Amino acid sequence: MFAEPTFAETYTPRAGNVFDSIDREAKRIGWNQIYRYGRVRGIRKTDDGRYCIAYSRAPGNYAFLVSRYLHLATGYPAIQFLPDLQAYREKYQDFKSVVNAYEAHDHVYEQLEQQGGTVLIRGRGIVASRIVQRIYEARKRNRNIAVLHLMRSPKPQGNKFQNTQRLVKNHYEFQPFNWPKACWGGELRAMLEKATPDERKRLLADWGGTTTADRQDWQQITAQGLSEGWYQITFGEVLDVERDAQNRTITRIREQSFGEMKLLADFIIDATGLDAKVDSNPLIADLVKHYNLPVNHLGRLTVTNNFELVEMRSDRGQMYAAGAITLGGPYAAVDSFLGLQYAALVAVDGLAATRAPGVHRLNTISSFRQWLKWVLNQSP
Ligand SMILES: Cc1cc2nc3c(=O)[nH]c(=O)nc-3n(C[C@H](O)[C@H](O)[C@H](O)COP(=O)(O)OP(=O)(O)OC[C@H]3O[C@@H](n4cnc5c(N)ncnc54)[C@H](O)[C@@H]3O)c2cc1C
Repeated sequence: MFAEPTFAETYTPRAGNVFDSIDREAKRIGWNQIYRYGRVRGIRKTDDGRYCIAYSRAPGNYAFLVSRYLHLATGYPAIQFLPDLQAYREKYQDFKSVVNAYEAHDHVYEQLEQQGGTVLIRGRGIVASRIVQRIYEARKRNRNIAVLHLMRSPKPQGNKFQNTQRLVKNHYEFQPFNWPKACWGGELRAMLEKATPDERKRLLADWGGTTTADRQDWQQITAQGLSEGWYQITFGEVLDVERDAQNRTITRIREQSFGEMKLLADFIIDATGLDAKVDSNPLIADLVKHYNLPVNHLGRLTVTNNFELVEMRSDRGQMYAAGAITLGGPYAAVDSFLGLQYAALVAVDGLAATRAPGVHRLNTISSFRQWLKWVLNQSP
C-alpha cells in the first residue's frame, strides 16, 4: 500500500472483507448502544443555545432530542438522473429498460445472459467502468451482448495541473482515486484550505471531473471490446429518448460529423452519479431556508476550515457537517472514508478549542494508544 498509486495498483478489498471489518469495528466500539433508529425531520436552535432534533421512528411515531453538539453527515440524498432519461421514465412508466446504476438492476444482466441484447451506457466514471466489466462477465455466458457507450464529447487529453497531466485512453480519463492523492493529506489539502472561494472552484475543477480508476483489467476489457466490436463508443448530444413498437429504447442524438442519429438499445444504464445539492434533501433544505445558511458554488453547505456551520453556532452549541454535503469547501476528498476521518478530526479539534466537556485534542500518545486498541480489538 505504501507504493500506491505510482508503483502499485490501488488495493481493492472484496465487499465481504469490508463488511466483516465494519461488523468487527461496530462490536468493538459498541455501536449498538450509540445509535438510534429514526429519520430526522427538522433541526431548530433552542432558547438556551442548544439544538432540538425532531425525528420519526415509524409512521406517526415521533420523538425529540436536545443536544449541545450536532454533527450532520447525511450523505447523498438522491440518485442523479439525466433529464432525458427521467422524461422517458415518466412518459412510458418504464423503470426496467432505463435504470440508474445505483438502483438494483440485476434483471438487466439476467435478461442479457438469457436472451442477449444491447445496452447503452451514459457516463464514463468508475461506475461505468464497473458496468462494462459486469457486461464483459455476462458475455462469457452469452456472446450476443453489445455495448454502446454514449459520451457527450471526445476526450483527447487529460486535465493538466501545474506540470502534471492525467492519462487518457479510449476517452476514459484516469486517476488512482477520485482526487489526486495529495488532496487527502498532502500539499493540495493545504492549498485548497488557504484558497478563496473562487480559487477553490478552479482548483476543484482542475483536480476533479469525471475519472475512473487506472486498472489494467478494465483497460484491457475496453481495448478487447473495441477490437472485437462488441463495445462501441459514440459521441453526441442527446435530443430525446423514445420507445419503439418492440419496446426497445431509441436514443436520438446529434452526432458531430453525421448529424442526427438513432441508437437502439434494450437497456439504458445511467452511470452519471449521485446528487447531493442541499435542495434534494428535505432536512438540509429546511435548515438552509430557515436559518438562511450560505451555500457554496456546488450547491452544498458552506463550512469553515474545521467543518463548522458557523451560522448555526449559539452561545452553548456548535454544529458540524461532513461528507458529500460539504463538497466545494476547504477539503476536496470529503466523500471518502479518509476524508470523513479528517473532517471528524478537525471538528474534534474545534470542540476542544471551545472546551467542550470531555473532549480533548488527539495527540501522538493518545492516537497511538487508540491505534493499539484497534489492532488488539479492544474497546476504546
Ligand atoms: C460505489 C461506491 C464506492 C465507494 N468506494 C469508496 C472507496 O473505495 N474508498 C473510499 O474512501 N470511499 C468510497 N466511497 C465513498 C464512501 O462510501 C462515502 O464517502 C461514505 O460512505 C460517506 O459517508 P457518509 O456517512 O457521509 O454518508 P452515507 O454513507 O451516505 O451515510 C449517510 C446516512 O445518513 C442517513 N440519513 C440521511 N438523511 C437522514 C435523515 N434525515 N435522518 C436520518 N438519517 C439520515 C442515510 O440514510 C445514510 O445512512 C464509495 C462510494 C460509492 C457509492
